[in-house]
Amino acid sequence: MSDELVDGFGRVHRDLRIAVTDRCNFRCTYCMPVEGMVWQPRSEILRFEEIERLARLCVERFGITGIRLTGGEPTLRARLPVLIEKLAALDVDLSMTTNGVTMESMAHDLRSSGLDRVNISIDSLRPERFAELTQRDDLYRVLAGIDAAIDAGFEPVKLNVVAMAGVNEDELVDFVDFAVGRGVIVRFIEFMPLDAADAWSQAKVLTSKKILQTISAVHPLEPLERSSAPATRFRLLDGSGEIGIVASVSESFCDSCDRVRVTADGHFRNCLFATGESDLRALLRDGSSDDVIARVMSGSVAAKWAGHGINEVNFIRPRRSMSQIGG
Ligand code: SAM
Ligand code: SF4
Repeated sequence: MSDELVDGFGRVHRDLRIAVTDRCNFRCTYCMPVEGMVWQPRSEILRFEEIERLARLCVERFGITGIRLTGGEPTLRARLPVLIEKLAALDVDLSMTTNGVTMESMAHDLRSSGLDRVNISIDSLRPERFAELTQRDDLYRVLAGIDAAIDAGFEPVKLNVVAMAGVNEDELVDFVDFAVGRGVIVRFIEFMPLDAADAWSQAKVLTSKKILQTISAVHPLEPLERSSAPATRFRLLDGSGEIGIVASVSESFCDSCDRVRVTADGHFRNCLFATGESDLRALLRDGSSDDVIARVMSGSVAAKWAGHGINEVNFIRPRRSMSQIGG
């Protein structure tokens, strides 16, 4: 290793998120427009060897220690286990965020290819509400996917719940009970202004404070030590489990953020909320050297802003939706 991805505030970035497709089989209302997205042509999506080259560069040159595969829905990428096998050889903490709908059939293959951990997104445990939120009547397949992930030996399995005021706030305790019953960790994520329908408003954000109040009224909690991960962690006082809260809006964690992102079409982003990006695909395809690509990445991180500024009047919502950036 000869370098690090450091921003102007001295923050070292060690976590790489790669969207492996922009396609999705769900249309979650907080992530995509109801009419769906126009998928990018296949030729514009990074090929496996291009993803592997970028990942290797990040690990060997910049000391990246964690890679998370995301999307769109990553399990829609054909031959995903082949890519996982290549990335697992880099000896990093390799994880994936998925809607879980195909995990029942894929979990064991993904695990044996070298995937270490999975986060499964699920925003309601009620079939009708789930169908309304995702535009697919597939709650039972996702539940089966969670069980399959546990059975395949992913450790830990985490559930991602986007907490939205007036939408699923009456299910917070149900989620904790569900997670404790299965020995998995649930993380509540504040609703962020990255929905393609542009329907986000502060009023729809269920804040971490409100989430904590509601859960601790039933399950007393105590805080756990914070890691570089964005979730604030809490232990159930009865010892039955742990939860996380990602307070991305009400208490920005930008100061400790160590993530960089590559979109499915090969654009490098230094922040989830960045309004600009660097086109690595063009460099990968025009014969540019690793040194040139590395310089573009480190220049982008060096120019990273102090924080996302969601709560400020001059906040500009990124052009891409969450499904195109990868979460
Ligand atoms: N399709 C996969 C999934 O749903 O897990 C991976 C991609 S998805 C964009 C990654 C994560 O972003 C999911 O956990 C999803 O719930 C979350 N997400 C999407 N839109 C969001 C929003 N507007 N605010 C907060 N989280 C969001
Ligand atoms: Fe698809 Fe995931 Fe976005 Fe839902 S959250 S629309 S599953 S990318």
